[in-house]
Amino acid sequence: MTDTPQRIAVVGGGTMGRGIAQAALTAGREVVLCDVSEAVLDKARETIDGGLRRLVDKGRLEADAAEAALARLSVTTRMADLADATVIVEAAPESPELKEGIFRELDTVAPEAILASNTSSLSLTRLAEVTGRPERVVGMHFFNPVPVMPLVEVIRARQTADKVVETVEALARDLGKTPVRIGDSPGFAVNRILIPMINEAAFVVEEGVATAEAVDEAMRLGANHPIGPLALADMIGVDVVVAIMEVLQQGLDEAKYRPCPLLRRLVDEGHLGRKSGRGFYEYPPKGR
Ligand code: NAD
Repeated sequence: MTDTPQRIAVVGGGTMGRGIAQAALTAGREVVLCDVSEAVLDKARETIDGGLRRLVDKGRLEADAAEAALARLSVTTRMADLADATVIVEAAPESPELKEGIFRELDTVAPEAILASNTSSLSLTRLAEVTGRPERVVGMHFFNPVPVMPLVEVIRARQTADKVVETVEALARDLGKTPVRIGDSPGFAVNRILIPMINEAAFVVEEGVATAEAVDEAMRLGANHPIGPLALADMIGVDVVVAIMEVLQQGLDEAKYRPCPLLRRLVDEGHLGRKSGRGFYEYPPKGR
């Protein structure tokens, strides 16, 4: 039996929230998933059920364990239902106003909980400050798709207590992840390194140095990357890449973080990558 937190709440039942919930359920945790939308919660339960079934099909989870995991999930649209959670992971949209509002409310409804945010770019130090318990606010930055990706960047706000960092690291390990400690700085580590590389790849295409296909092939074969940077941009979302570059540019104030105009043009044209059917590459709808 572990002494890591047992009752986990997740705020936001979208792409990341449902993945985090699934990882916690398979690790034997009770999970309350909260979203403003009943429809999202229905879909989240369905996705988690599907994810657990796939684990059973692959022989990585017993059928009765999958059933028990799903039985430990409850969903709600009321923040008050998170009152007895020990750790709450917020995975709502990336808006400072929205997240600050959620943290203020969590501060009131769940007085004992550690409040973690899955933000990709916002300052944890600032978020901690809107609560009356800044020492118990921390970043847990999971990667998409959560059930597959092994990393959690543990982001320490200036105010975060050592014990809280240790607790969420232990929780991440129990969820089958590897926590890596990173300071509270724009883009943390992975996005600060990865996204400017994608931006540079776009400049290479924009300047006519190489085609997107050539850049991707070169980086796969020459740098041993499993996927080329521009195919990766299409997976992440070209709009998300531009948004992260803007965060780096504003937060670090260096010319090298200027978003590539080609990326902006793609966004203006609605070519956001896989999710819109076209980015650097075209993605025909399945079955066509
Ligand atoms: P998403 O849009 O898929 O899901 C967000 C969910 O939050 C939606 O279901 C929405 O209904 C819900 N929501 C909105 N307001 C809410 C509120 N007040 N209370 C409860 N729920 C509310 O977003 P996502 O892609 O899952 O991203 C969530 C967070 O994770 C963001 O901070 C994002 O930066 C971060 N993140 C995303 C990725 C990724 O690849 N998608 C990777 C790492 C981190």
